[in-house]
Amino acid sequence: MKIAICASEVVPFAKTGGLADVAGALPLALEKLKQEVIIIMPFYKKAALSGISLARVMPGIQSTTLGEGIKVYFIQNDKYFNREGLYGDQNSDYPDNLERFSFFSRRALELLKEIKFKPDIIHIHDWQASFIPVYLKAAYASDAFYKNCKILLTIHNLAYQGVFSREDFPKLGLDWSIFNMEGLEFYGKINTLKGGILFSDCINTVSSTYASEILSKEFGCGLEGVLARKKGCLSGILNGLDYSIWDPSTDKCIARQYGSDNLGDKYINKQELQKVCGLASDKKLPVFGMVTRLAEQKGLDILTEAIGEICKLGLELIILGTGDLKYHQLLEKQAKKFPKAFALFLKFDNSLAHKIYAGSDIFLMPSRFEPCGLGQMISLKYATAPLVYKTGGLADTVDNNNGFIFDKYTSVALVDTVKKAISLYGNKKQWLTKIKKGMKANFSWQESGKEYVKLYKELSGK
Ligand code: ADP
Repeated sequence: MKIAICASEVVPFAKTGGLADVAGALPLALEKLKQEVIIIMPFYKKAALSGISLARVMPGIQSTTLGEGIKVYFIQNDKYFNREGLYGDQNSDYPDNLERFSFFSRRALELLKEIKFKPDIIHIHDWQASFIPVYLKAAYASDAFYKNCKILLTIHNLAYQGVFSREDFPKLGLDWSIFNMEGLEFYGKINTLKGGILFSDCINTVSSTYASEILSKEFGCGLEGVLARKKGCLSGILNGLDYSIWDPSTDKCIARQYGSDNLGDKYINKQELQKVCGLASDKKLPVFGMVTRLAEQKGLDILTEAIGEICKLGLELIILGTGDLKYHQLLEKQAKKFPKAFALFLKFDNSLAHKIYAGSDIFLMPSRFEPCGLGQMISLKYATAPLVYKTGGLADTVDNNNGFIFDKYTSVALVDTVKKAISLYGNKKQWLTKIKKGMKANFSWQESGKEYVKLYKELSGK
């Protein structure tokens, strides 16, 4: 089958979160499963700078190769994409995101025709690619090239919907008839993801639990009614983890490689991490690590409420993250207050992230909601017990056998679970049993890739 993956960020070219990991790893799995796959993404400044070998396919289109022979097409438009950020700067989203990503979507559809890649499936990701089915239905409805093409939308996070003012609608070049309840209109504004949901042929999310959660008012972010209309074609496929990147036995970013046979060497990484963080090298102190966007979704509200108490429990806490200024400030204040217990890094740092996964004993991920989550899967592989709230993909991957899970979203429940983890950490035998169980979990892309191929086949009828 011919599959075109369209996404706004793809590892190793540009990344702000888990979407990029998926959009980079899924094509590799599909290629191994003998599918013909290409990737289309914007040409950001970061991609231009990362020293990859590029070929100019035609004006405004650069290309490179991933895996054995996956063509990656970069859509270039310096006015829109040659910027420091992907979607905005530290303070806010770029004001022209509608123009940026509608341009990307239209150009992607033109490109497929220009390179004569007639896809059976266009697999789009999140709101940034959600104008694709809208344009396909509006502008290419009678185009023979796209006659048998089906669209799968993967929602990585329903909280990001690409909402824009009604006044911007003419910039899309679409007929006003599409700006209604059956189309892009949502409470008087343009809702890009809503368009993606309604105009795609099939929708999936990145875990089964999240797929059912988003039909509820609590998790539906206002779109639960729209999603209910597509319930028959809404499913969940758990993301895989790219074990060629995330494996402590081959990881080049960490001080000492280790696996279940030489688990003792994990503690060399712990010592190194403590050193890097300026924390005391005490083997007995459990190290709690966290690598995250600093957003309320990730449990920052209950964490910042509880952090003063947590820092007094006899542990070391390391947080690496960027995000909401509010949380930068709150955490900075606590890091100053507890310099011996809490090390804070307010930045995006891939190498340090690897060191934290390897050197911590417990990985904190108390997300309020979590479509899938990669952090907990990575930490399981690194023999770092995840401590999570029972939601979405966290509920599908973590239990009390391989980690710690709490089911009331409160700072009290979080602190209680941290205390439980500290207490169990004191029992070496039980601790080893837990982390060894975690290491055995296999969330490979091979398995998720097979499920996607099954879904593509159902969808295309091939
Ligand atoms: P989300 O996509 O919602 O941010 P995920 O858990 O699905 O959350 O994926 C987050 C990915 O981004 C993980 O690979 C994580 O290690 C990485 N990451 C998040 N924040 C940082 C950071 N500040 N520095 C380095 N890596 C980060």
